[in-house]
Amino acid sequence: MKYCNSLTKYSRFFTREVMVGNIGIGGNNPIRIQSMTTTNTMDTEATVNESIRMINAGCELVRITAPSRKEAENLQNIKNELLKRGYNTPLIADIHYTPKAAEIAAKIVEKVRVNPGNYADKKKFEEIEYTDDSYKIELQRIKEKFTPLVKICKKYGTAMRIGTNHGSLSDRILSRYGDTPKGMVESAMEFLRICKDENYLEIIISMKASNTRVMVQAYRLLVAEMIKEKMNFPLHLGVTEAGEGEDGRIKSAVGIGTLLADGIGDTIRVSLTEAPEFEMPVAKKIIRHINEIKNHQKICSLIKNPLHSFDYKKRKTNTVMNIGGKNPPIVKGDFSLKKKITPASFFALGYSYSIALDKWHISEMAADYVFVGDHNLDFEVPGTLGVIYNYKKWIQDKKGYPLLTVNEYLKEKVKSEKINMIYTCFSDLSQELTNKLKTDKTAVLLIDTNNNNGIAEQRRLLAELINNKIKTPVVIGRTYQKMSEQQLQISSSVDIGALLIDGLGDGIFISASECISDQNNNSLSFGILQATRTRISKTEYISCPSCGRTLFDLQETTAKIRKETDHLKGVKIGIMGCIVNGPGEMADADYGYVGTGPGKITLYKEKTVVEKNIAENEAVNALINLIKKHGDWIEKN
Ligand code: SF4
Repeated sequence: MKYCNSLTKYSRFFTREVMVGNIGIGGNNPIRIQSMTTTNTMDTEATVNESIRMINAGCELVRITAPSRKEAENLQNIKNELLKRGYNTPLIADIHYTPKAAEIAAKIVEKVRVNPGNYADKKKFEEIEYTDDSYKIELQRIKEKFTPLVKICKKYGTAMRIGTNHGSLSDRILSRYGDTPKGMVESAMEFLRICKDENYLEIIISMKASNTRVMVQAYRLLVAEMIKEKMNFPLHLGVTEAGEGEDGRIKSAVGIGTLLADGIGDTIRVSLTEAPEFEMPVAKKIIRHINEIKNHQKICSLIKNPLHSFDYKKRKTNTVMNIGGKNPPIVKGDFSLKKKITPASFFALGYSYSIALDKWHISEMAADYVFVGDHNLDFEVPGTLGVIYNYKKWIQDKKGYPLLTVNEYLKEKVKSEKINMIYTCFSDLSQELTNKLKTDKTAVLLIDTNNNNGIAEQRRLLAELINNKIKTPVVIGRTYQKMSEQQLQISSSVDIGALLIDGLGDGIFISASECISDQNNNSLSFGILQATRTRISKTEYISCPSCGRTLFDLQETTAKIRKETDHLKGVKIGIMGCIVNGPGEMADADYGYVGTGPGKITLYKEKTVVEKNIAENEAVNALINLIKKHGDWIEKN
């Protein structure tokens, strides 16, 4: 199934232009940046002030929640006040559950967002048996509820986003298609068909999820479906509930960046549990990175496509020590450019040394390998850390493992019996090399690229290996220079995340000592693996960005919960601002902390309510007790 113009030549999937007020989305317009306010919509002054901060930070469209009629009506006051202060940025009303609010808002603002999972349905988490006939009756019911809004939008020139969320699919869709990318696409398609029947086409579509793999697959499937049905609606990209800080930024860059690199996406929203104006710089960095891959060097086309772009399937590879096979991807640090390496240098790679016990302690985020180039290490390194030397240096001392150039590998007379890492670019792939790799059970490729579109070139290399039945594990290497640490965080997350999401890569190696400290580089590498769910080394927080519905201080609460639980590797905790959308949107969280009313919290174990309306000041302890009760708690070291 085709989902983008080309896997080897970047170009944007061409969509029809939809005007949202004075801003065009899709067509030849640049990728637009948008965000959402977090204030109470009834507080006009606060919402206007926050909108202005967002606009000044680069937000081109401002979304505001309208949970009921009164908030929808107040959008007029917000709009008037913004205009009075000289801002004509298009406004979007965010609607869940209340068609009447949508119908009011559609006459005031430039765009309404509806969630097909809850526009015409109340969510009860029920599994319902449908026959084809009873399903048709359901569709007719939806049509009756949704058509009035379509007619208003058509009459007032208002655009619409059909915004599907993985976590809030209707019981009807879940019963028929399951919790799948296919279900997400069908959820939007049902609404889209109603719009088409009404000849209303000012539509933008989104397929958000907090799981980056599900999100990427759903958008690709949607585009494939649109191509099949000869549609080309613009796409709004976003990773929901991405969280905050480094994790939120990496997750957003992985999900949004992977699709933009495919050429998919016309407007983006980075969703962080932080003040919304902090989202714009992240969005700009993602777009800047994609703009840099545009005019890339030629990559030969792919005749036979062996990649799994719609479902996750890890490339089958040999097991070479702890690399490849069923092992999670390894992290390799780079000490090669250091002036001096001392035992203390390894602290940055997740190791600490206890003098009393004369022992290295290994953290959950300890690098597996380190490249030291031609350095001499005259002390004991942590036993679990593999040390890689340049081949010529390795030949002299035979310590650790060698890194060879392709030339050295093809001519080698002596090699390691355990691991031989070969530095390889796409242009190095020759018949001679592939023949040798086929029979070598010690080889690991460290791939690199100089192509501006390194994603496409490295993906092409991996496709070539698959097509030639070469099972050599691959460490994805990227070198970065002359960029800020913040840009590096985004660029590397896009470049490497895009491959890992497709099941490609057995490890990562980010060489960027000019741009980032060793410690932050190590944390970035583990963050990318966590965001692609290829190696889980920490707690995962699925926290909503907050909006006018939020019932507590999300940032403060998230920080409190994080402080108590950040050692619970692999546990997924949803922290959601409201009971209306929270339970659905936290999707696959193991535990949920959801605001139910002012000062009141409800706790969930997966999708089941376990404690209702706990006082906020007791809720974090209650959450800890719940985690303990289910055996997921460990004490901090
Ligand atoms: S879950 Fe959070 S962002 Fe979503 S509607 Fe509720 S408070 Fe707003």
